[in-house]
Amino acid sequence: MSSDSNPDIIKLIMTLRGGGISDPATLSAIEKTPRHHFVDATFKDKAWENRALPIKFGQTISQPLVVALMTQALRIDDRCKVLEVGTGSGYQTAILCHLARRVYTIERYGSLLAEAEARLQKLRHKNLVTRHGDGALGWPEQAPFNRIIVTAAMKQRPDTLLGQLKDGGIMVAPVTRPQDRSCQELMRYIVRPDGFEEEPLGGVRFVPVRSGLAKRD
Ligand code: SAH
Repeated sequence: MSSDSNPDIIKLIMTLRGGGISDPATLSAIEKTPRHHFVDATFKDKAWENRALPIKFGQTISQPLVVALMTQALRIDDRCKVLEVGTGSGYQTAILCHLARRVYTIERYGSLLAEAEARLQKLRHKNLVTRHGDGALGWPEQAPFNRIIVTAAMKQRPDTLLGQLKDGGIMVAPVTRPQDRSCQELMRYIVRPDGFEEEPLGGVRFVPVRSGLAKRD
């Protein structure tokens, strides 16, 4: 489906622009990614609205504006090797696949991962490698990465993941605010020769990162 024929896509892109998304590559990747493929049948009519929607096991497909903010903040180009923690529906993964050289994505629910893999295969994304595992540990065998995105809330600064970034690498992750545990700060970290640059990008609300593989699956 192209945006020419779908007023819902045009409306969403306008909402994203209004929300501060100006990066043409990010907007184009969102326009090309059919969000209705990533939501349950009951929510298909809401797929192009700017809202998070439930997927299985109490997890969510993130709000498009938040997906766009995170994608734009990562400054991905086609030389980037990207790690994603929290595959979920695979929607953010598909957007990363449009922009990066290769995407490594980890999910702790085996059945969510299998469904996401099927959708991504159907859309013919080939530059991706998946893993059923605990993404909080990163992917040491494939490190270092140019970019890391965490799509679930971390309790504190994700130092293990930061250790798997290249020099000049960028990570975007929601990190619980110490003063308000119900909400997180979207953080951007950039690796510098003498440490990390940390930048808060605003308040967000994600499901928490959990450790280990999911038991109910
Ligand atoms: N990016 C997803 C958002 C999914 S919600 C999308 O666009 O649909 C967050 C996901 O992170 C959930 O699927 C949850 O199971 C997963 N998750 C939470 N903790 C994790 C961990 N330690 N390792 C891997 N995945 C994790």
